[in-house]
Amino acid sequence: MQGTMIYRLRDIRFEDVPEPKIEKPTDAIIRLAVTCVCGSDLWPYRGIQAVETPTPMGHEYCGYVEEVGHAVKSVKLGQFVVGSFAMSDNSCPHCRVGYQSSCQQREWVSRAQAPFMRVALADGTLVATPDLPSKEMLPSLLAASDVLGTGWFAADAANVKQGSTVVVVGDGAVGLLGVLSAKQMGAQRIIAMSRHPARQKLAKEFGATDIVTQRGDDGVTRIKDLTEGIGADSVLECVGTQESMMQAIRCTRPGGFVSYVGVPHGVELDSEQLFFSHVHLHGGPAPVRRYLPELIGLVLDGKINPGKVFDLTLPLAQVAEGYRAMDERKAIKVLLQP
Ligand SMILES: [Zn+2]
Ligand SMILES: [Zn+2]
Repeated sequence: MQGTMIYRLRDIRFEDVPEPKIEKPTDAIIRLAVTCVCGSDLWPYRGIQAVETPTPMGHEYCGYVEEVGHAVKSVKLGQFVVGSFAMSDNSCPHCRVGYQSSCQQREWVSRAQAPFMRVALADGTLVATPDLPSKEMLPSLLAASDVLGTGWFAADAANVKQGSTVVVVGDGAVGLLGVLSAKQMGAQRIIAMSRHPARQKLAKEFGATDIVTQRGDDGVTRIKDLTEGIGADSVLECVGTQESMMQAIRCTRPGGFVSYVGVPHGVELDSEQLFFSHVHLHGGPAPVRRYLPELIGLVLDGKINPGKVFDLTLPLAQVAEGYRAMDERKAIKVLLQP
């Protein structure tokens, strides 16, 4: 089998890799229906996160169950399943309160840009659809695996509710789906921060009421202007840089909520600024598994179409081209077909 590996900065290869096999009785093997490139895959690609040795890539997936270990009870051969990038038992104390991405038995997915993959803790990790989905549904079901689940967590963790004023920092796929999530949760006003016309357009389709193109101090001033000097109730930080995090905190009203779901790179918070901001902070790797049943339902009922974030589709063998397109911001998100 061939799968995706990163060797070093901007060096993605689709090459021979071992076929996945059942390693523990709780594992399953799935055949991927579709997979994709994530914004977070660009951190090692751009050399911001060091690549020490050739490393397998990919953590967003959905597909068909090919094989199950003998201890797997609920997941059945042939089912269509969606899982999160954090594999979890869905039964330990952390899972039971909805933090499956902190599962005591957690394993990270890292080999999903391939035709087949092993899923650990299959009964806890995977959620099956009632029937085999149509081809048209695949991009949206794949989105549920990470970017939608992460955007949804961002909105939930920022306490978005009926009537909220929301700011979304970051116009990648997660930020855009944070807009969609805030809309679903009843936000009245959704201000998307974006300088990119195609992304602004999609943000509006997903429910953004205002677009702010400024960043840094100017961005904060603009948000304050739009909110009568008050700031937003909920701010979703979907980037993970110092600038984006400080922008998020400074856009939030006293007593408001900031969620942060972008993997942080070099973010340091000024304790005094934080102290006087009076904001709630809640973030981390999204517990996507908590939301999967609801999100799959919304997709299958046609209530949401998160698959619109995929604006380029390539054969899996051209995965390197997919990374390049996202790196150069020629594509928002790249769908890969095994
Ligand atoms: Zn991802
Ligand atoms: Zn657990």
